[in-house]
Amino acid sequence: MYDAIVIGAGPAGLQAALTLGRMHRSVLLLDSGEYRNGTVLHMHNVVANDGTPPAEFRATARTQLGAYDDVEIRDVRAESVSGGEGDFTVTLADRSTASGRNVILATGVVDDLPEIAGLAELWGTRAFSCPFCDGHEHAGKPIAVLGGAARAEHLIGMLGRIVSEISVIPVGAAFTTEEVVSLEARGARVSGSAVVAVSATDAGVVVRAADAEHTVAGVFVASGTMRQRAPFAAQLDLRMLESGAIEIDDFGRTSAPGVFAAGDLAHRATLPGPMAAVMLAATAGQLAAVGIIQSLLAAEH
Ligand SMILES: Cc1cc2nc3c(=O)[nH]c(=O)nc-3n(C[C@H](O)[C@H](O)[C@H](O)COP(=O)(O)OP(=O)(O)OC[C@H]3O[C@@H](n4cnc5c(N)ncnc54)[C@H](O)[C@@H]3O)c2cc1C
Repeated sequence: MYDAIVIGAGPAGLQAALTLGRMHRSVLLLDSGEYRNGTVLHMHNVVANDGTPPAEFRATARTQLGAYDDVEIRDVRAESVSGGEGDFTVTLADRSTASGRNVILATGVVDDLPEIAGLAELWGTRAFSCPFCDGHEHAGKPIAVLGGAARAEHLIGMLGRIVSEISVIPVGAAFTTEEVVSLEARGARVSGSAVVAVSATDAGVVVRAADAEHTVAGVFVASGTMRQRAPFAAQLDLRMLESGAIEIDDFGRTSAPGVFAAGDLAHRATLPGPMAAVMLAATAGQLAAVGIIQSLLAAEH
């Protein structure tokens, strides 16, 4: 019986395991090898790790976790979680089971990209969505924003002061006249026809629309959605937020006692959505671990 089973070994799960291990609480950390930034070559906006390859970040974290006798890591997919506070059972893809007093869900989310030929291949290397993560790398260069007008306006606001030029290209239906006027008022060039395909060049990306080609340094996607990567929130009937994320409190507690959540898959109701970033996921992992330590202490005394 582990004190905690942490499902997911991205920044949230790795940090949760580190905090629990340092407090000599037994923890099983599970990893199916599916990371949100799995295609990303260099992560940014991570203090002391600005530009570090995510795979290197995870490898260093795992090496450092090896120093803690109470942390066990298994590279195996978790398939189901059952039970309740004090006695959870996690069934693994290798048909074994593990028991834990508490569970931390840190399984992240999947980005469902708009259906544009070539986009999936460029995701994380030439196609992005987060201005904090990848805006500065396009400083002084032209970019294209693909997608809906409202999110495009938001991206223009963030990236307009960094890049040299922004072309906004619709996905699906063309923009309305009001949308074109509003986007142009923000300094963007607006394409009259929708994006058909994207492809990489030596220097950047060619975006093919029905009536023109745009050669840019990179593209930012302003449409698409994200969803829970794993089925555990549904299995455990956790309270969800409008954003599709699991509702948590300040210490990562979900609506089910003993089930904690951390990282991109969860946020507090006061926020409009998950603040998806490596540092914030790790912070959430640490808070969830502290929440578990508090509840173990309360049960012991
Ligand atoms: C293109 C792109 C670029 C980005 N660039 C940056 C950047 O530069 N800087 C930045 O701060 N953020 C960046 N991000 C955001 C960042 O990647 C996420 O915020 C962060 O990875 C979230 O961490 P997490 O631990 O919640 O989830 P993840 O990192 O997605 O980790 C999820 C973990 O859960 C595991 N898992 C899932 N299902 C199961 C299961 N059933 N059983 C066992 N394990 C399971 C996975 O294997 C993985 O270990 C980027 C995101 C994208 C999409």
